[in-house]
Amino acid sequence: MTARPLQACRHWVFDLDGTLTLAVHDFARIRRELDIPERHDILGHLATLPAADAAAKRAWLVAHERELAAASRPAPGACELLQWLHVRGCALGILTRNDHALARLTLVEIGVAALFADDAIVGRDEAAPKPDPAGLLLHAARWAAAPADLVMVGDHGYDLQAGRAAGARTVFVGGDNAWPALSDHTYPDCRALLMALGRG
Ligand SMILES: [Mg+2]
Repeated sequence: MTARPLQACRHWVFDLDGTLTLAVHDFARIRRELDIPERHDILGHLATLPAADAAAKRAWLVAHERELAAASRPAPGACELLQWLHVRGCALGILTRNDHALARLTLVEIGVAALFADDAIVGRDEAAPKPDPAGLLLHAARWAAAPADLVMVGDHGYDLQAGRAAGARTVFVGGDNAWPALSDHTYPDCRALLMALGRG
């Protein structure tokens, strides 16, 4: 972690589900429906299946996630935080394990889609999914920024691991941080993060 304050950071990458939106994924149910063992990584498990089986399960997952995306609600302070960064000229990106089109639909639903160019959304088909840092490195390359100049904001260890592996600044937002060693900053939600930035 550098000594530079967060306010000075110009390149911000956000996780989507549970960070910018209220968390609605029931991962236990998804594992049950797709016959994935408890605690197994869902995308990782699907990648090990025979092609036909994997395709059918991915189709179910996308249909299920489309329903969730259509019902998305913004997390407290999320839209205000994005607008605040946007008007200050910061680069904004999304890094999600969701599918690109569903991520776009989610951003439309919560009212911030206009802040994100299409290539500012990196989904599971554009780069190896988190915790792999590939998506963050892709954002950095598109912005011609050093990975160390990026901030990764998320609500899960995968977000923080990806941030660490890329050499980015990490911000955890959520009620109970189970990954303090991976978090450079911790806030209860985006509203608290915005207030911290605004206090400058
Ligand atoms: Mg999340």
